Amino acid sequence: MSHIIHRNLRHAPPVAVSAEGMLVRDSSGNTYIDASGGAAVSSLGHAHPAVLEAMHRQIDTIAYAHTAFFTTEVAEELAARLVAGAPKGLSEVYFVSGGSEAMETAMKLARQYAVETGETRRSVFIARRQSYHGNTLGALAVGGNEWRRKPFAPLLMDVPRVAPCYEYRDRMPGQTQGDYTAALLLELEATILEAGPENVIAFCAEPVVGATGGAIPPTPGYFRGVRAICDKYGVLFIADEVMCGMGRTGTMYSIEQDGVAPDIVTVAKGLGAGYQPIGAVLAQGWLVDRLRRGSGIFQHGHTYIGHPVAAAAALAVQKVIEKDDLLTAVRMRGASMMGMLQDAFGGNAHVGDIRGRGLLLALELVQDRETRQPFAPERKLHAAIKSQAMARGLMVYPMGGTIDGQYGDHILLAPPFIATEADLAEIVSRLVDAVNAALKAG
Ligand code: PMP
Repeated sequence: MSHIIHRNLRHAPPVAVSAEGMLVRDSSGNTYIDASGGAAVSSLGHAHPAVLEAMHRQIDTIAYAHTAFFTTEVAEELAARLVAGAPKGLSEVYFVSGGSEAMETAMKLARQYAVETGETRRSVFIARRQSYHGNTLGALAVGGNEWRRKPFAPLLMDVPRVAPCYEYRDRMPGQTQGDYTAALLLELEATILEAGPENVIAFCAEPVVGATGGAIPPTPGYFRGVRAICDKYGVLFIADEVMCGMGRTGTMYSIEQDGVAPDIVTVAKGLGAGYQPIGAVLAQGWLVDRLRRGSGIFQHGHTYIGHPVAAAAALAVQKVIEKDDLLTAVRMRGASMMGMLQDAFGGNAHVGDIRGRGLLLALELVQDRETRQPFAPERKLHAAIKSQAMARGLMVYPMGGTIDGQYGDHILLAPPFIATEADLAEIVSRLVDAVNAALKAG
């Protein structure tokens, strides 16, 4: 009997006992291909020798140092490396232990910037529907997943919300991609004006929507438009790359592909690739400089900031990505997995959309391809596909519809960057069986 409060309170998951490369084993002797990297985390697969060695070395050197007293060489080296590969001007790094903490930190940094510039009225964040920014109260408030928010709604600050950039669902018949994008940007501008630009701190968005929408990339020009509107009104742009960053989409930061530099970027998952819990916030030099010249202190902090072993793991992960040219691998494998998914599911009457960027890919399931009508939320098709996949030794990341059932079920795929063509073919073949079995079970 388990004493852990598991996500499913009625049913403890299998007990994982070992993992190596693409595979995870449980205590009953079952082996699973990790096609989702957990929750888009394990970008190097499991038990990568270079990362394990770096962690061991760090434990033997110094395992913990509180940042109120010390910095460490390993955290400094990791920060320098993140900055070197980051979009223009992002020269300052703050380490945390995960994605939600990174978003909380980003939001507080943005607010403190407003305070230090004398713009104390700025207290509003604007975000998108169908977004996920974390489960702590601030991050949950900016997130736009109604199911996750509902029980906690009275505790959350008000966040004006705009439409996500979700072409498959929202682009109207006959509307060009350019017109669709322009309409989204008009809505953002109108929402800023309605809130009063002088009251708005920042706009938060995931460059590729992950945990709530299923690998939804933006339309061309969307983020350039966002950048221009934010600049026009002195609103900061916070890009949440917790899931899509750190190489997952084929570039170190996904937003590079959209040609803009945010004011603040959050990363986590792939940063430590699951070897240690670690996240980071990258901020523009001028922004942090303002605090430096002002109060001289960032009024924030956590006990495990820049944890040396976590930093050592993340640094080793970054070095492997560079040495093994894994960004190129992600781009190539991403394209070939997309092709395999299209071949396998292109003719499936219940797969409405196959999309993604790099190795962050998803299927959207629908009752009817013509009308794009989702399955009823009560059917929990995503959960049935996950169970069928687990029964076939395959880990995929399922996502259900929102409360109003508007968006329906998705299956997210985020395999490790080390996946071979044969691994991908095996994943797709098992997924076909799992999806068909779940659909048949009705
Ligand atoms: N932002 C995004 C885009 C995420 O995908 C997630 C995690 N799914 C988070 C924030 C929260 O990260 P964590 O679970 O590490 O707190």
